[in-house]
Amino acid sequence: MTDSERQTDLLVVGSVAFDSIETPAGSVDNALGGSAIFASIAASYFGRPRVVAVVGDDFGADSYALLEGRGIDTRGIQKVAGGKTFHWKGRYHDNMKDRDTLDTCLHVFADFDPVLSPLLRRSSHVFLGNIGPRLQAQVLDQVEDPRFVGMDTMNLWISNALPDLKDVLRRVDVLFVNDDESHQLTGERQVLNAAREILELGPEYVVIKRGEHGALLFGNGLCRFVPAVPLSRVVDPTGAGDAFAGGFMGFIAGAGEITPSALTRAMRAGSVMASFACEAFSVGGLAAGDPAEIERRVAFLESMSA
Ligand code: AMP
Repeated sequence: MTDSERQTDLLVVGSVAFDSIETPAGSVDNALGGSAIFASIAASYFGRPRVVAVVGDDFGADSYALLEGRGIDTRGIQKVAGGKTFHWKGRYHDNMKDRDTLDTCLHVFADFDPVLSPLLRRSSHVFLGNIGPRLQAQVLDQVEDPRFVGMDTMNLWISNALPDLKDVLRRVDVLFVNDDESHQLTGERQVLNAAREILELGPEYVVIKRGEHGALLFGNGLCRFVPAVPLSRVVDPTGAGDAFAGGFMGFIAGAGEITPSALTRAMRAGSVMASFACEAFSVGGLAAGDPAEIERRVAFLESMSA
């Protein structure tokens, strides 16, 4: 990657969380997580993302240091005095894919009212990470003239906030969903049909993630497949979807032009970032990625489909 490809102004909005997670490989309590965290760390390998989020007093200097150490601009993270950071508790099934949400404590998220600085309003690229669609819209409303907007969502919002979600969907360039969410959103089980229906809802592209079976991108007459990086040990898939989207969006922000080649390479960047996220609890795997290992995994993905 050249230096000019690294120039990016990607705004990432989403949740910042402390997660308590159980997987067949072990468990962790109150570990750093949240969609904005995973996505911005993934994007940080391709540029300098700027995070918009809300945290409480318990979000300490070590967490800021981790983000800033990766070149992430944290000035858009609002800290609420006397408040507590969002907490999510989940347990994975033996297949390491399905999971149950055991607890969600919104804490400071309940009153989050994002107001963007002039710098953030001028962002050229925006990633609307997984949070309520009204908050996603509120952030997007403030960005003056974004060139490319990505959006993630989850089953909760498809069930509880579908009209709001569809309003945002009309305004974005790419939606990231997993295959269950694509089915929930469209009623379609066949991936091609689900993709077609989603594209009719507004976005130019849709990326449908299928866990260890890779991901597909559809839109503008394109269909691209990227395999998942085969892993010998999955510890915790939490954040893999956010990491995929963050890697994809970070790469696109750095690439400038939206060409079929850039989209293909962005899919590989996403897949590699998702693989890092699965290898340890919390951000342990993702934050430890290094450029040489990224190149190695990207080359491996290319060779897999040669
Ligand atoms: P993923 O595994 O990519 O779906 O993302 C997992 C992350 O989503 C965890 O770190 C959670 O903190 C976060 N999360 C879970 N539920 C919510 C929610 N309702 N709103 C925002 N973020 C959430």
